[in-house]
Amino acid sequence: MALEPRVLFDDLEIGEIAIELDDKEPQEVIRWGLETFGDQVALMTSFQIDGMVILDMAYRLRRDVRVITLDTGRLPEETYAFIEQVRRTYPGIRLSVCFPDFREVEALVGKYGVNLFYEDVTKRLLCCHVRKVRPIVRALEGLQAWFTGLRRDQWASRAAIRKVELDHDHGGIVKINPLADWSKEEVWDYIHAHGVPYHPLYDRGYTSIGCAPCTRPVAPGEEDRAGRWWWESNAPKECGIHCPIETGGFEHEVAAILGEVAKAPYRG
Ligand code: SF4
Repeated sequence: MALEPRVLFDDLEIGEIAIELDDKEPQEVIRWGLETFGDQVALMTSFQIDGMVILDMAYRLRRDVRVITLDTGRLPEETYAFIEQVRRTYPGIRLSVCFPDFREVEALVGKYGVNLFYEDVTKRLLCCHVRKVRPIVRALEGLQAWFTGLRRDQWASRAAIRKVELDHDHGGIVKINPLADWSKEEVWDYIHAHGVPYHPLYDRGYTSIGCAPCTRPVAPGEEDRAGRWWWESNAPKECGIHCPIETGGFEHEVAAILGEVAKAPYRG
């Protein structure tokens, strides 16, 4: 049996690799990731168009590519159907679905209700932290690298991403963003040219797809991420997975929720 490659990089090394890969096509960046990290790299995707392009490209290089998705418990029904469609279209992929810790969700909704996110930004960030950020941290444990579908033109907070970077928010593993310099048009061109399946909500006016209660279609001329948490103003269109969000308020609430979980007897 082949030994798993175990490669660790420091900031300087990954900076040099990032410069080398910056003008390379996404397929070359993905090949580098697969060859460098073997089974220790996975695509993390919510099956939006960017993730689907990476999945399709990776599948052409490695049929048993690892794919991880997150079921927050609040996804649109269409996403579940689409996950099954992806599984049928790409037989052999190793798809795992990760979930939030049910005790943390119970503590969250017990304290603030099921639709707390509409009340204020702090509660929305708290929900994203419990249902998204913490499960993703767990899912990435043990990996050396992950592929994401981030693009620089998606939102101001993503404008400076590199194709390869050290992810200090997730233990210093390598974060690979093969589509960093692609435009939305290039992504759609690839989808159509290669017959890649895409999430059905795109045909109903959605341009960014997340949890059902927090995502709606956008109006013509609106930014692509305008349909996410559309009721908020002056808040980042981010959930905290890809950039740490610090408000002071929600961290306090997170500590309270986790404190309750720690005190409660385990009923598993
Ligand atoms: S997107 Fe909405 S429902 Fe999903 S985790 Fe964030 S606040 Fe909760």
